[in-house]
Amino acid sequence: MTESYDYDLFVIGGGSGGVRAARMSAIHGAKVAIAEEYRYGGTCVIRGCVPKKLFVYASHVSGDVEDAVGFGWSVEGLSFDWSTLVANKDKEIKRLEGLYAENLEKAGVETLHERAEFVDAHTIRLAGSGKTVTARNILVATGGRPFVPDIPGAEHVITSNEAFHLETLPKRIVIVGAGYIALEFACIFNGLGVDVQVVYRGDQVLRGFDDDLRDGLAEAMRERGIDIRLKTDITGIAEKDGSYEVGLSSGETVGADLVMYATGRVPNTDGLGLENTGVEMGSKGDIVVDEFGRTSIENIFAVGDVTHRVQLTPVAIREGAAFAETVFNDNATKVDYSCIPTAVFTDPEIGTVGMTEDQARQAHKEIDIYKSRFRPLKHTLSGRNEQMIIKLIVDGETDRVIGCHMLGSDAGEIAQAVAIAMRMGATKADFDATVALHPSSAEELVTMREKWQPTAAE
Ligand code: FAD
Ligand code: NDP
Repeated sequence: MTESYDYDLFVIGGGSGGVRAARMSAIHGAKVAIAEEYRYGGTCVIRGCVPKKLFVYASHVSGDVEDAVGFGWSVEGLSFDWSTLVANKDKEIKRLEGLYAENLEKAGVETLHERAEFVDAHTIRLAGSGKTVTARNILVATGGRPFVPDIPGAEHVITSNEAFHLETLPKRIVIVGAGYIALEFACIFNGLGVDVQVVYRGDQVLRGFDDDLRDGLAEAMRERGIDIRLKTDITGIAEKDGSYEVGLSSGETVGADLVMYATGRVPNTDGLGLENTGVEMGSKGDIVVDEFGRTSIENIFAVGDVTHRVQLTPVAIREGAAFAETVFNDNATKVDYSCIPTAVFTDPEIGTVGMTEDQARQAHKEIDIYKSRFRPLKHTLSGRNEQMIIKLIVDGETDRVIGCHMLGSDAGEIAQAVAIAMRMGATKADFDATVALHPSSAEELVTMREKWQPTAAE
């Protein structure tokens, strides 16, 4: 006898991965419900990629105005109003949130606005109404949340969640960490006129990225006035007269109006009732899945940040779509994790795809490096002392381009296009055979002919 359930699929979490999976499963004919405890759109739309990028655009204006002088503009009486930016951003986010819910409903998905938790492997309790529902398959797409280490004074700090809703812009901010969020917000606040100090425990920012980009970005951020303290931990944070004294492992104390922690994110699995299902968990509170997103329990799946793999929106979306294709369209589909391009929306920006030089040296017998570091044409007149870096890593045996790393204007936009070529297996000879687009910075990708050789100093 086949059991009957209220739904073919119940999705927990209305973010990037959950929404895509729910919509595609419904389009394939499944009866689907989705529950979201906060706002449809999830981290990316509500308090991640989208509002962040809007802030990035806002923060670029001050640099553009400085650059404009060299082109003959005189700009006087410029002023910035934080509350206007926040209000306009909120309006756009509300519009996108509405679109997400609308598209789910158009696809025939039942949308619930409450928290969902497991009662058992087929039963969900809805925390708001107290109702229980059953489903043949359940997809966990609950994402992640900011992690703040347990330091004295941790109750005073904000994370990226709060950064999007500050009532006023601080005069001085200390940002802890040197990953994507820390550095993007350091540049946002710096561009908006805030005095920024980045405090990081490691010996260079952006661990895991290519070393040339790490060094180049730290140099450029310092040139723009951001203080970066490396090999430094926070010993404690104390409130004093409405601002904060931040103790550093160097023994110094720095003052700040705001302290922001951007020290990674942890999967949202607490209180989800997963212990009632027997789903295998990883050491970071993540849900362990196979290449099809299936957990150790046959009918329970997970996608996106809750699996603590690649924490990027397009990846969560791909995983959600692959799940729907596999389970509801009878077409087993895996996500291809090779050649995922990524950008760090700092100023200047990073765009990268494929292996770093260090990774390539470990994985390949012989590699060739091509590097170009140059002053972009724009800065010949703007006078800005900033260099663009473009670097290609080539497998010496096959001539395939296996890494591309860029720092400078539009690096993220360029990385998206390079990723297509790399995924198709483009060789350095293919890059060389491609006609340059002139004048551009990206033309360096097809004009670098000399292999880079370390000098004695390097
Ligand atoms: P989420 O989008 O986090 O969605 C999970 C949803 O589940 C949330 O809405 C949550 O409220 C809900 N939920 C949790 N528990 C329950 C429950 N029990 N019941 C009901 N609902 C629940 N990625 C990029 O690719 N590019 C970027 O530029 C970028 N910028 C970022 C900037 C910031 C500040 C942050 C924090 C992240 C950024 N990311 C970026 C990462 C990206 O946002 C995530 O990788 C992506 O949102 C993950 O999607 P998801 O579906 O796994 O989870
Ligand atoms: P990251 O993993 O990028 O960076 C975390 C930073 O915090 C690192 O510098 C890390 O140092 C440091 N850190 C971790 N634990 C501690 C600790 N206990 N004490 C002090 N420092 C610590 O995480 P983020 O929070 O910046 O972002 C989360 C994820 O969201 C990213 O990994 C990315 O996948 C995604 N994201 C993507 C963006 C984009 O695509 N542009 C933008 C924003 C986020 P160490 O390296 O030494 O471990």
